[in-house]
Amino acid sequence: MQKLLIVSNRLPVNVDTTGDEIRIIPSVGGLATGMSSVSGSYRNLWIGWSGLTKGQTDEKTEKAIEKELIAENYLPLHLTQEDLDGFYFGFSNRTIWPLFHYFTQYVQYDDNDWETYQRVNRIYADAILSAACDEDMIWIHDYQLMLVPQMVKEQKPDMKIGFFLHIPFPSFEIFRILPWRKEIIEGLLGADLLGFHTFDYQRHFLSTVRRLLGLEVNFNEITYGHRIIKTDIFPMGIDYEKFHGAALEQKARAVKDKTKVQQEMEKYILTNPEIKLVISIDRLDYSKGIEKRLQAIDYFLDHHPEYLEKITLIMITVPSRSEVPQYKQMKSEVDELVGRINGKFGTINWTPIWYFYRSFPFEELVDLYSTSDIALVTPNRDGMNLVAKEFVATKTDKKGVLILSEMAGAAREMAEAILVNPNNMKELSDAILTACEMGVEEMILRNTQLQDRLQRYDVKKWASEFLKALTKATDNRPVLGGTKITPQVETEIISQYRKADTRILFLDYDGTLVGFKNNPMKASPDEELMQTLEALASQANTELVLISGRDKETFDQWFPGKPFSMVTEHGVWSKKPGQEEWKLLEYISSDWKMLVRPVLEFFADRTPGTFIEEKNYSLVWHYRNTDQELGLQRAIELKDELNSLLSNFNLEIMEGNKVIEVKNSGINKGKAAARFLRNKEYGFILAAGDDWTDEYLFQELPNETISIKIGAAKTRARYSYADFRNMRNLLNQLATE
Ligand code: UDP
Repeated sequence: MQKLLIVSNRLPVNVDTTGDEIRIIPSVGGLATGMSSVSGSYRNLWIGWSGLTKGQTDEKTEKAIEKELIAENYLPLHLTQEDLDGFYFGFSNRTIWPLFHYFTQYVQYDDNDWETYQRVNRIYADAILSAACDEDMIWIHDYQLMLVPQMVKEQKPDMKIGFFLHIPFPSFEIFRILPWRKEIIEGLLGADLLGFHTFDYQRHFLSTVRRLLGLEVNFNEITYGHRIIKTDIFPMGIDYEKFHGAALEQKARAVKDKTKVQQEMEKYILTNPEIKLVISIDRLDYSKGIEKRLQAIDYFLDHHPEYLEKITLIMITVPSRSEVPQYKQMKSEVDELVGRINGKFGTINWTPIWYFYRSFPFEELVDLYSTSDIALVTPNRDGMNLVAKEFVATKTDKKGVLILSEMAGAAREMAEAILVNPNNMKELSDAILTACEMGVEEMILRNTQLQDRLQRYDVKKWASEFLKALTKATDNRPVLGGTKITPQVETEIISQYRKADTRILFLDYDGTLVGFKNNPMKASPDEELMQTLEALASQANTELVLISGRDKETFDQWFPGKPFSMVTEHGVWSKKPGQEEWKLLEYISSDWKMLVRPVLEFFADRTPGTFIEEKNYSLVWHYRNTDQELGLQRAIELKDELNSLLSNFNLEIMEGNKVIEVKNSGINKGKAAARFLRNKEYGFILAAGDDWTDEYLFQELPNETISIKIGAAKTRARYSYADFRNMRNLLNQLATE
């Protein structure tokens, strides 16, 4: 059976070593439930930190724990305290967490933490590599492990890798602040499928990929080298049946069998029949908006004295990351605010806020949810927020009102809640009033819809949908371009080359022999390239043709008196070795330029960083150097404008790599190359190019041509390379006979 490796920062277990025996206690979080629900289809193995640091127990116990865990299909990683400080408490919680939740003022930039984050991500990647086979599925979770996908992909390109981000992905303007932004994105792009909770997080990610790396994004797919990476939305659900069922059971219980919490709440309601109970549950975290929520209660009680003694907020804050300074400070602020509000409004019979700084067991949590009238869930930012969903699931009679921040991922699926901006005190206070006054019929209407959705898309569905999408993304991995050149194919090409008695090589220049530069004139040939080209052209019975969209003046400047042929402007001009003058291959007019130039100038003026290049028989608008999204948008507008302007001319609008070029139609690299083959037979023909102007070349040359596309895209070429460096490497090998 196929294995599914689940990889998360922490294993979903607690290891208890206090007694005589080692006890493995599974934790019952949503993720563990989702994962166990798919275990029928796969053999699951969960990789993560065991919760114990190295040295915390003796070596013998450590081994024994490991054995127990492996028997339960957990592969434990033992991290040192130093690892955890830099990787988890440091980079994950003090850099990524605040940044991704838009708390830029709390972001810590620490090179040592970054080093440790990389080192510990490598530990996770190595564990995957040692445990997985090629056909296994790997599902990596969350912001602590963003470099792992790439680390695994590098070693095992065929492994099926999925990644899910459980927190928000921030807007590019926020993400770009990070000094290590490129490394993080490249790390994530090792995955075949990237999952997010909401459309906005996905949109932010795609825009970052486009703007930071200039990659091509089509709808929700990213083209990256040879690969297509899918992104999609999977809003995480809860174990609906578990919460709903527990609430039903609690109702059916005799009073004496109910939990202490339940008994006391029921007693309180009996003595205060008009009371509205408002529940608020979060980890104590600055992203949760706890202070603003308290201020809103203060405001509400000030403005609605009719609710004094008629509303009680049950506020549970679960201790979290208490070693981080901002959390410590927040704790004292919350303590103080609660004290102030209780002091200001409280009476002998009534305390407005019941405040708990601890966690509650599951049964009591369900009691708190199901007995409360209103849930106040108002985070400043929250990837999803499960509390909102759990509250609704426990409403077995469908009575109860959810007030939910629009900044929580959950708000995208819970439009029937009262949605609020958590920063708008008046709106929050109005929402509390609306909730207090809402009629039963309306509650039932809203909760019916909410519950239907939660029941349908629960955490099991979430897990199975993700895995289905991962299977789909990897089963038929789209092959872009021709067959990828493997070392074996490369050896075969070299051998054919050596055996042939006459040979000709057609090489495009930009993107094929050199990389792209912001300024095209900076992409001049380097010393190594020059030597390779000269060496190839000097071999017996070998012709080399540089065939490019560049103008002849540039090539004259770069390659004076070189022993190879050159074709410029996509086939307008040609010059053979030893010739002084360029030969015009096609007689054409360039009168149309007068008409087109002002249009391009208008676009260049309005789009900073773009410019016009004028060749003898074409005009080019370059947009590599502008904001990528603006550039793409302008390119669409420009094509549109040119199409309507040029319908009466025999012109072609060509879209190259971050350029739009207008030139006379009927001239192309294919026609130019064909002239070289007219009067001579060659035993070996090779053609290489990177953009679609080279497709004419691939199309025109005979079938036996070794045609090579550089980069990933649809192509007529037989073979493909990821990058110009691979092409250079092949040429170097051909050059050293
Ligand atoms: N929770 C819990 N015990 C408590 C309080 C909360 O187990 O005393 C759980 C709650 O049921 C929910 C989770 O903690 O499943 C909080 O998840 P959420 O997405 O709301 O916030 P996060 O803590 O992940 O930011």
